[in-house]
Amino acid sequence: MLKLPGLIDPHVHLREPGATHKEDWDSGTAAALAGGFTMVLAMPNTKPPIFDAGTLDLALSAAQQKARCDYAQYLGAGPDNAEVAAALADKAASLKMYLDMTFGQLRLDDMSLWMPHFEKYPGQYPIVAHSESRSMAAAILFAAIHDRPVHIAHISLREEVLLIKTAKEKGIKVTCEVCPHHLFLTADSPLPQGEGLGVRVNGRSEVRPRLATQADVDALWENLDVIDCFATDHAPHTVEEKDSDNPPPGFPGLETALPLLLTAADRGRLTMNDLIAKMYTNPKKVFSLPDQPETWVEVDETVEYEIHASEQFTRCGWTPFEGWKVKGKVRKVVLRGKTAFEDGKILVERGYGQNIRK
Ligand SMILES: [Zn+2]
Repeated sequence: MLKLPGLIDPHVHLREPGATHKEDWDSGTAAALAGGFTMVLAMPNTKPPIFDAGTLDLALSAAQQKARCDYAQYLGAGPDNAEVAAALADKAASLKMYLDMTFGQLRLDDMSLWMPHFEKYPGQYPIVAHSESRSMAAAILFAAIHDRPVHIAHISLREEVLLIKTAKEKGIKVTCEVCPHHLFLTADSPLPQGEGLGVRVNGRSEVRPRLATQADVDALWENLDVIDCFATDHAPHTVEEKDSDNPPPGFPGLETALPLLLTAADRGRLTMNDLIAKMYTNPKKVFSLPDQPETWVEVDETVEYEIHASEQFTRCGWTPFEGWKVKGKVRKVVLRGKTAFEDGKILVERGYGQNIRK
């Protein structure tokens, strides 16, 4: 049995308020515990989006009633909320800026709208940027100009990891995360197989950033030392939505990240020290997160099994890794002295999770 610290996922979408048929604070944090995560940072592109005191309260009161693991809620950067967001910084995970098109309506097109956020948001928290390719370069330039930390969400491309490597060498305060799906899938990967898979399967591969090429995936693995965190970007949509004519982008990921990465460790693609650094030590440091006393995860690193959506706690009902063979299973999760998950069962009630920015 392998003992790990309680893992931290700095990038999840729990869909509450507004889309609880996809996920909510209850099902999403149950999925987190089942995946070995004891702390999650929730993104603000909900309905309504979280961008001021009122909407932050809306998300946090739902979380307070329902969350089973510890959490914090991001604020979204809008065209005119820089002052309001900065004043709320100590109550939030951090600030998320959408610089490219994805799910939701928070994109900031004009770079002059980025400026007040980079000026005002407190420098002890990194501004998290959804910024792909050249807009990532622009976000890094803003970090350099304002001499403040920026954290690049879900990098996926060779050009991105190489630019971040150079920026770090120059002393720019940039950190980054990569998602398991960008490490294990390419645009050419076989489409997910599963029960009830209809004819329109392409929607299942829709994700932002898009799945990339083998050369991009290889570059991420070759530059693993540049990558600070593994984040799931857990972004559940139902099977019906994914298989519809207008499939929304996003994959679930909370319950598959650790087994996939443990399997990669077993095959010698990364070390257990890499895994702990990128799923605990680094996110804790990057986001100034508190200790969780008496918190750990027990993993049986020898057991081999197949991933099946039918065994997951996420409400979305599918996974891009359906049928994948993995090695390493979460047996038990202890959160603040209490067994929160054991052998497939959630053992803490709704509301046990605490807001770590309280
Ligand atoms: Zn996301």
